[in-house]
Amino acid sequence: MNASASAHLPEIDTQAALARFMTLAAIEGISGKERAVMTQIITMLVAAGVDELAIRYDDANTRSHIGGEVGNLIVDLPGSVAGPTTLLSAHADTVPVCVGSSPVIDGDEVKSARESTGLGADDRAGCATIVTAVTELLRSGVPHRPIKLLFCIQEEIGLCGARHLDPSLLGKIDQAFNFDGGTLDKLTVGATGGERITITLHGIAAHAGVAPQTGASAIVMAAEAIHDLYSNGWLGRVDKPGLGIGTANVGVISGGDATNVITPKLTIRAEARSHDAAMRQRIVEEIGKAFRAAAAAVKTDMGVSGRVDISSTVDYESFALAGDDPSVIAAEVAIKALGRSPYREVSNGGLDANWLHRHGIPAVTMGCGQKNIHTIDERLMINDYLDACRVALTLIRD
Ligand SMILES: [Zn+2]
Repeated sequence: MNASASAHLPEIDTQAALARFMTLAAIEGISGKERAVMTQIITMLVAAGVDELAIRYDDANTRSHIGGEVGNLIVDLPGSVAGPTTLLSAHADTVPVCVGSSPVIDGDEVKSARESTGLGADDRAGCATIVTAVTELLRSGVPHRPIKLLFCIQEEIGLCGARHLDPSLLGKIDQAFNFDGGTLDKLTVGATGGERITITLHGIAAHAGVAPQTGASAIVMAAEAIHDLYSNGWLGRVDKPGLGIGTANVGVISGGDATNVITPKLTIRAEARSHDAAMRQRIVEEIGKAFRAAAAAVKTDMGVSGRVDISSTVDYESFALAGDDPSVIAAEVAIKALGRSPYREVSNGGLDANWLHRHGIPAVTMGCGQKNIHTIDERLMINDYLDACRVALTLIRD
């Protein structure tokens, strides 16, 4: 940060901002168990002067496959002046490795004092960033535009909170900023789409020593299908000139009980991703085709073949913000004002922003100084985090 940029710095209480993060990171709250985190966020917001009646939960948890303690937390701050309605969002859950986190300051970073746990900065730093921005805004008394806050549940298990969000509770949003893991300078302006595939191969059991010819092995079917996909370029990085690019993976195979049985059943879990929905669907089709062909090809001596059940669910659709998207431009201006150099990136993983986009809310995603997320080496870079707080404040001030 240089001297001329510091003149534009929104003033924040850095001690309080850091304390807010430490408090939130220390709370246990994996996906589906976010109540304690949300309760703390509510306490902090009410202490900052937010009307309790402006804070409510939606019922996203009732539509999630795991249920969960609470829905997404939604806060409505009417504007003191007219202006674009601005959404700030972050997710409240952490991955299981962060259970037991004990945040301590280590030089210019925060880590977990307990070596076997991650810090949980992903994404309690995002929550703390938003709470800090609102606290500082209300403390300063400066006019502000209409603001909505969204604290999502269950991001880490497949973006469930954002997926099942009731967008009618947010109303029309003009600009949206999603604070998640990574450096503040990285603006994620698009992300891939992902689909999960479950394949159940039904073979025919037989004694492997006495009469193997009367069986049809589900394991052989799987091997044939996977070999076919692999040798034809439909697994791993998929690059098909004229069709598109994407990725595919067979990640889980389970089945079989004994070596002396021709395996009658196998369950396989696979995934496909692409920035292009049509290409992703094509990859899913190719995977289905290969397994159907293999199930039909592996037969008993009487010519009886196996069969296969295939189901797939879209985890998230891809999205790409326009080059002149107002949220992206506003984020870039705010980050540059701190003397930093923002850059745009497209993600190969899914984000809450994928689902926000589906709900008609184009959101730009930026980090809050987290690094090594989802590992026991997770850290929060304090200066990055404090800058994220300043950026969030800039984005909601008039
Ligand atoms: Zn995250």
